[in-house]
Amino acid sequence: MAKQDYYELLGVAKTASADELKKAYRKLAMQYHPDRNPGDAEAEHKFKEISEAYDVLKDEQKRAAYDRFGHGAFENGRGPGGAGGGFGGFDFGGGGGGFADIFDEMFGEFMGGGRRGGGAASGRGQDLRFNLEISLEDAFKGTQSTIKVPTSVACDTCNGSGAAAGTQPITCPTCAGHGKVRSQQGFFTIERTCPACHGAGKVIKDACKSCGGAGRLRKEKTLQVNIPAGVEDGTRIRLAGEGEAGLRGAPPGDLYIFLAVEPHPLFQREGPNIHCRVPIPMVTAALGGTVEVPTIDGSRAKITVPPGTQSGHQFRLKSKGMSVLRSTQRGDMYIQAVVETPVNLNKRQQELLREFEKAGEKGSHPQSEGFFAKVKELWEDLKE
Ligand SMILES: [Zn+2]
Ligand SMILES: [Zn+2]
Repeated sequence: MAKQDYYELLGVAKTASADELKKAYRKLAMQYHPDRNPGDAEAEHKFKEISEAYDVLKDEQKRAAYDRFGHGAFENGRGPGGAGGGFGGFDFGGGGGGFADIFDEMFGEFMGGGRRGGGAASGRGQDLRFNLEISLEDAFKGTQSTIKVPTSVACDTCNGSGAAAGTQPITCPTCAGHGKVRSQQGFFTIERTCPACHGAGKVIKDACKSCGGAGRLRKEKTLQVNIPAGVEDGTRIRLAGEGEAGLRGAPPGDLYIFLAVEPHPLFQREGPNIHCRVPIPMVTAALGGTVEVPTIDGSRAKITVPPGTQSGHQFRLKSKGMSVLRSTQRGDMYIQAVVETPVNLNKRQQELLREFEKAGEKGSHPQSEGFFAKVKELWEDLKE
């Protein structure tokens, strides 16, 4: 089946601006997002298609390649500049491109629109890493975190240009604004980045006093980060354009948030499921009864302990586990019984237990009886 045209998929003209593309994508993404259409395979497929289309068209270079070569530009990893396979891009540790880009969209928008710089212009701001630790409860229900990132921001005084008030950067006299200089070496013409303007094509005559001409200042930036429910330890979130400001108006870097989920004192997470070891008093285990256990959503669940419950017995509470990212489903909770032998017995308790033992008949401890019967056989065999 032929692939649908990316512009058609997004319902925009071939001449659409970056803003129009983004608007069209946002509208469709909201409509077909798996969260809004749980279990709808068609919507999911559509969502993937539009995400793919936007992925290509939002990037100037990929868009240009697509306009020239169509879908063929990206097949078999032979795309222009596509080192290796597929669309290239940032490696998100096996997650595949789509996942990261969805985050990029959601967060970029939330944070007031992240910009993705056009190409590798010199002076692009550094990418930043921010480690964020959240509790298992927050990972379960999702949270909004305010983070303070030490970074560089565009200078207010000169609007990031680096030029003093009332002046403008002038066209670089060395390269005449090309950002590159050529030199002849034998038969070859060698092109390199202009050493005077570092590729920017412009130089500053009068430097801005606030930033010394850099166009950016060291500053702590406060950001709101939306953590979706179901995130796992080690998840990375990219906030496009929220890294360090670029040099003299160059594009900013990206901010990568590395999420760590703190260990929980009671619950162990295993993917979507939660495990919990629950001590059960010996008498309850022997006679049967009920035990209340806490759940990750902050409520309680009652489990019925059948008479004769042993240590290691597992109870399963369906859909009481972790929330699953971009899904309305939940994992299960597994409760492992640990029968507790009572300690610090008083006289009366000791008497009662001795009496209890005397009153017993064969068959109340089948495991011990079976075990010692086997031991006896073994010892008798040895005697011969
Ligand atoms: Zn400045
Ligand atoms: Zn220059």
